[in-house]
Amino acid sequence: MKEIQKLFPSMDGNDFQREELLSYFKTILTKIDELKDPNKLTLGEMPEYTEDYYNRIIQKADVPTTGVPMDEVMAELLKLVDGHRYVNRNYVANAAPLPNIASIIGNLVMVLVNGNNLWDVEGPAAATAEVEVTSMLSKLIGYDENLSAGYTTWGGQGAVFNSLRLAIARYAPTSNQIGIPRNLYCFCSELSHYSLYKSVEAAGIGVENMIRVKVNHDHSMNIEDLKEKMEQVIAKGGVPLYVLATMGTTDTFGIDNLEEIKQVAEELESTHCLSPIYIHADTAMGGMYTFFNNYDFESNPLGLEDNIKEVLKSYQQKFKHIKLADSMVFDFHKLGQTPYITSLFLIKNRENLKYVDLDEEETPYVGNRGYGSYHTGYTLECSRMGSAMAIYASLLAFGMEGYQKLLANYIRVNIKFRETLTKEISNVAITNEISPITTFRFYPEEPKWKDEWNGLLTAEEMIEINQFNDEFAEVIGAERDTVFYGNTKKQRLVESANSSKRIPVYAHKFFTISPYSTVEEVDRYVEFLREHIVFFLKTKNAVPLK
Ligand SMILES: *Cc1c(COP(=O)(O)O)cnc(C)c1O
Repeated sequence: MKEIQKLFPSMDGNDFQREELLSYFKTILTKIDELKDPNKLTLGEMPEYTEDYYNRIIQKADVPTTGVPMDEVMAELLKLVDGHRYVNRNYVANAAPLPNIASIIGNLVMVLVNGNNLWDVEGPAAATAEVEVTSMLSKLIGYDENLSAGYTTWGGQGAVFNSLRLAIARYAPTSNQIGIPRNLYCFCSELSHYSLYKSVEAAGIGVENMIRVKVNHDHSMNIEDLKEKMEQVIAKGGVPLYVLATMGTTDTFGIDNLEEIKQVAEELESTHCLSPIYIHADTAMGGMYTFFNNYDFESNPLGLEDNIKEVLKSYQQKFKHIKLADSMVFDFHKLGQTPYITSLFLIKNRENLKYVDLDEEETPYVGNRGYGSYHTGYTLECSRMGSAMAIYASLLAFGMEGYQKLLANYIRVNIKFRETLTKEISNVAITNEISPITTFRFYPEEPKWKDEWNGLLTAEEMIEINQFNDEFAEVIGAERDTVFYGNTKKQRLVESANSSKRIPVYAHKFFTISPYSTVEEVDRYVEFLREHIVFFLKTKNAVPLK
């Protein structure tokens, strides 16, 4: 057993074994650092992803008969890292985080003591951290921390599923025994994340009972359309069960008006004598901006510039209403810069958990003992990682101000990007509101976004412009090692002049997420686009840029 024991950390904390572990850490950190290059987005050389790449992996995979030495294990791991994308200043594609140091250490502690977040007897560190971050963030958004509950779960998507499950069980407490009623309906914006789509599939509600609501010009849910569609459901005997209020759409950062959604829900509840309609705020993307909920824009302690203040003030007006939602989520692994997965699902009223908790007799192994008082029998996971520890560490290291500075910088860089882009390139239009995301669209000649937006172009014209942008995305995508832009095939739907079907808009995305993406870098980002669009227009024999 001695040689097997060598594969483990020490039992007694001796220096020798610690030094050994440290030397592995050091090697890994050093080797990864050696691969970093601020001018590139990948660590080392990208493997060639030939068509049979994964097939070859499948063929050669085998568990070794005898274990290989740690040096070799590390060499193999580093091979996996080769060519990995690394979120530095050149990454402007999506909400991919660069985990901050505190969160890395938080994760390390989580792994070293390896508690099971299922039960405090098995994982006291994570349990305490979870209770603590739940209280911290409840206070921040305006939930009563003595009534709220929270737990980390499988992402923003997990939060949507968990909230839907709460909604079903609250409406129909017998559904756990006899299955769900057949007349339940969910509502979401047509630009909401596909999390709800997955969840209605999995919960047995069915996609046909998920009603998509139109959006306004600013990508927020159209309240009249919501009301109308809810009334239609009620008229045919359906039950409006659940509304997903997206606060920060994934592509355009549209923010649904929670106050109005809540009003509509309450109005319908009283007119039609309905059970309370569950509202989940899908704040996976936007939730971090609640860090400005109590920011005093008058005294402006961080000295934020006027144009940034204006954006953040409008966020404050919207995000202060999150407390009206039955639940919400903090996806720290998006704008909060922590490792995957660090999502905290927050529930306004912990009473609701009683509908989904396990009966005592169903949990003979853990919980409900004289010892231990924190047992998460209501989660869909059994064993749970203690990812609240990474969140906790980040909150301590950043504090309110640290996060405010980081979040304000996302806006600052986007404002500069918008200004520079439209100044330097004549055939481009910006297609969303100022936010941490800028969506934009190129045109073979003059920008025609206003006309598209107002439904004045034909479907064919718009599809051609989509095609143009799609091809251009391929061009810049091939050089994503230099600057990596995102794109979307459905930024939104717009009316056309000659068809009853609305047309999805193709757009490029600039999503600044790295703390190293600063205003100083913006000229370079835009120059990359300018060079390539000039070249692209030439290859298409189009009219040259002015
Ligand atoms: C990213 C995202 C999700 C899914 O979150 P995961 O953490 O990736 O599971 C859900 N909703 C919105 C609005 C998102 O942007």
